[in-house]
Amino acid sequence: MAGISLTSVTKSFGGNTVLHGVSLDIAAGEFVALVGPSGCGKTTLMRIVAGIEQASSGTLRIQGRDATSLRAGERDVAMVFQSYALYPHLTVAENIAVPLAMRRLNAWQRLPLLGGLMPGARATRRRIAGEVAAAAESLGLGALLDRRPAQLSGGQRQRVALARAMVRRPAAFLMDEPLSNLDASLRVQTRREIVAIHRRAGAATLYVTHDQSEALTMADRVAVMQGGRILQVAPPREIYADPADLRVATFIGSPRINLLPGEAGRDGLVRVGDRLIGLRCAARGPLTLGIRPEAFVLAAEGLPARAEAVEFLGESVLLHTRHEASGSPLVLRLPPEAAGRLPASGAALHLGFAPGAALLFDQDG
Ligand code: ATP
Repeated sequence: MAGISLTSVTKSFGGNTVLHGVSLDIAAGEFVALVGPSGCGKTTLMRIVAGIEQASSGTLRIQGRDATSLRAGERDVAMVFQSYALYPHLTVAENIAVPLAMRRLNAWQRLPLLGGLMPGARATRRRIAGEVAAAAESLGLGALLDRRPAQLSGGQRQRVALARAMVRRPAAFLMDEPLSNLDASLRVQTRREIVAIHRRAGAATLYVTHDQSEALTMADRVAVMQGGRILQVAPPREIYADPADLRVATFIGSPRINLLPGEAGRDGLVRVGDRLIGLRCAARGPLTLGIRPEAFVLAAEGLPARAEAVEFLGESVLLHTRHEASGSPLVLRLPPEAAGRLPASGAALHLGFAPGAALLFDQDG
């Protein structure tokens, strides 16, 4: 069943259309990461699902229910932002308990006659404390329950925000760059915690990030957005190895995929310059070859290039080169052992690649 379902959603601010008919289905239990360049409409889409912003047209369903014009409070979604939005005067335990206490209050408000009596108040308080403790424990906050937000590190604050979202057991989690204020090692740890929370909750999760390594490591499917349109939604490996078009291919992958001008002759054979590269293609005419940095090797023969610079990254080494014929920059990702025996800057070399590793794009991308 669809947890979140967007159909042909558009959004304009004044005359400026920032979402052009976005459709996206996120199943209950599925984690979808939304990536795209700054300003492409990710946050706007998220705010529409949350009910902070109204779509100009199109429909939104949450757990099968039409939520297009439901108020934010009626949508059963929990949001986690980059800024933690904790109550500074409340303790960690109280902050986590807020949604549970609110829910309780709402129930009482609907029963005005019983409101003064607060039926089962003590049992409820005990149950809330139990849920808060369990959520805090699972996020390593057990020892911090009496502290206030000002006495916590950024990572701890973000975990409080996650715990607070978690206790609600919502139909959907919406997370907008929740890790961007954390340092690198905490980010890696917290991203595993978020995936674990998601799995336990079985909710539909929409996770906005500009960090593609987050998207690729965390998501069941990655949605790539550009200019207010979703270009492709696919599992991480497919987004990387079989991108829908040149825009997706160049957005996903770091360093960026190498691009080379080529041509498919009347015989269907692909040439780069006047060199056959062992590839056949159904299309004819000019095309662009895409080759990932890790698909290149230094070879005895292949594409003639010239070495320019070396960057040592620890787990790998990048060799920056330039293709002789076209002047295109080509970067290789090589194992770190290669670092000691790479060609010096200016040296001529040849780049080989397995034909199956090349992606071919026609003139329309
Ligand atoms: P970033 O990664 O930088 O956060 P984003 O992909 O989340 O970007 P949005 O914040 O959704 O992008 O913005 C999409 C476009 O909509 C931008 O051009 C932005 O200027 C515009 N926009 C967003 N909110 C408003 C608003 N309230 N009024 C007018 N324009 C807006």
